[in-house]
Amino acid sequence: MRRKLIAGNWKMNGSLEANRLLLSGIKSDLGHPGCDVAVCVPAPYLAQCQTELAGTAIGWGAQDVSAHEAGAFTGEVSASMLRDFGCKYAIVGHSERRAYHGETDAFVARKAARAVDGGMIAIVCVGETLAEREQGETATVVARQIDAVLTALTNEQLARVVVAYEPVWAIGTGKTATPQMAQEVHAMLRARIGAKEAGIAERMAILYGGSMKPDNAAELLAMPDIDGGLIGGASLKASDFLGIVRAAS
Ligand code: PEP
Repeated sequence: MRRKLIAGNWKMNGSLEANRLLLSGIKSDLGHPGCDVAVCVPAPYLAQCQTELAGTAIGWGAQDVSAHEAGAFTGEVSASMLRDFGCKYAIVGHSERRAYHGETDAFVARKAARAVDGGMIAIVCVGETLAEREQGETATVVARQIDAVLTALTNEQLARVVVAYEPVWAIGTGKTATPQMAQEVHAMLRARIGAKEAGIAERMAILYGGSMKPDNAAELLAMPDIDGGLIGGASLKASDFLGIVRAAS
């Protein structure tokens, strides 16, 4: 059975003080969660997470990683730098990076490989826009996005990948895919991964992301191919984040 993962994506939010309050709120009521829990934070706050979360049940990670190893890449943060700060996870290919930073499927795959080779678990985001869904292109788009990763990574690397299906139209909008809509895409993704290697598909966690909240988490997480959540807005409030963790536990 796959263990569920609830990962917060703080995006470009936070301050030392706000993070301290949020993390202490999560820590104080977390108990012994029956799922994996993580927060993916802006890079400057990784050191704070390392200090505040070491020895707890909460892992931490970055929201992006450079596709390069080291060198003249101003502004980039490498996988080994993230590991220096104890990152267990790195999100790659979030739709905001694809849309605002022109990240292509192939580039996202390179980042996923870099994260994994650097010792982290890559959380690879895929998902269609509203226009693509309305044109009936969801399966084609999502297959293209996952295929880039399946082609570029070895089976060994894929064993350290988590996929997050995040329909772009559901991110930060309050619109959530119905459990059935999400399940359909998750099952398609798992079949696609299974065509490469059945064992990897069976073990790989496929998270859902897009306006997941405490009141809709349980029904989404009850679907057979939904193995957790990537949580944006609701990860910024300890009680909401914990409500989702409880639904997954
Ligand atoms: C996200 O950005 O990864 C996300 C899922 O955001 P939200 O939960 O706010 O829709």
